[in-house]
Amino acid sequence: MWNLSRLYRLLFHPTILKPTPPSNSAIIHDMDATAPNTVLHCTQCGGELHPDEGQLFLTCPYCGATVYVDKAHVVFHWYLAPTLKEQEAGASLRRWMAGNQTVKDLDQKATMLGSTFEYFPLWYFKHRQKSGREDILYEPAAATSVSELRRLNLPAGDLRAYEPSMDSQARSPTVPLETALQWLAQRQLPEGEVVEQAMVHIPLFTFKYQYRANTYTAVVEAATGHVFANIFPAKAEAPYRMAGVVTALVFLCLAIFPVIGAMSNNGKYLDIGLGACVGLGALAAPFLFVLAAWVAAKI
Ligand SMILES: [Zn+2]
Repeated sequence: MWNLSRLYRLLFHPTILKPTPPSNSAIIHDMDATAPNTVLHCTQCGGELHPDEGQLFLTCPYCGATVYVDKAHVVFHWYLAPTLKEQEAGASLRRWMAGNQTVKDLDQKATMLGSTFEYFPLWYFKHRQKSGREDILYEPAAATSVSELRRLNLPAGDLRAYEPSMDSQARSPTVPLETALQWLAQRQLPEGEVVEQAMVHIPLFTFKYQYRANTYTAVVEAATGHVFANIFPAKAEAPYRMAGVVTALVFLCLAIFPVIGAMSNNGKYLDIGLGACVGLGALAAPFLFVLAAWVAAKI
């Protein structure tokens, strides 16, 4: 019982993007609001759906599609299958820790405190620009300290129909569709419209680790191994800047010699000033180089 016009309406539901900042109270208000008495229809076949009160995840009794019910909206409900086990996700995290963003040798200095696994809900939006270019954008559908998740880049075509057997590992969405759309509207997107929206549960390992008496959280997305972390022991930039400032000051001082030479006695000592500048500059250069190398090795 395909009903194409209804399917079209549901998929291409015209969305009004209001640039008002969302607040926590707005979210709570939205969640508390009683469901309107509108009839819900399956996103795929248009069949009438009758979810139990509070039931968010549904399998359509007519066509078997898995859908997510957000107040008056029914959207497809997908999940991303994990390809990494905990050990492999941990290895991804170690590689990231050994990389350039974090404090030197963090992979060896950090103490791992354990990990948890869950399917985390994200709102999925297909955004079509006026030029016809389409982007897939995400907004978190539950509270998270890792707002970086919206920069997720999922492998195309890997989304599968959500399975009820995953319920025990899946976090329930708490962010209404309208709120996620408002967040989306606050991003500086090229002009266009949201042409598709869905609920996606993605597999995440959340690792806790300790470094210098502080506890940090890092999230490894278990399909691609991508590491997300908002707060981590970052490379300190101050020593690099300091080395740069010292170098600049030394050469600025040396450059004053020729200037003094040029100004004194109608330029009589210009040669001496230039010589002093070049000579001392050549002497100072190795020391400054060693300083920079030392900073790079330590931090
Ligand atoms: Zn259906």
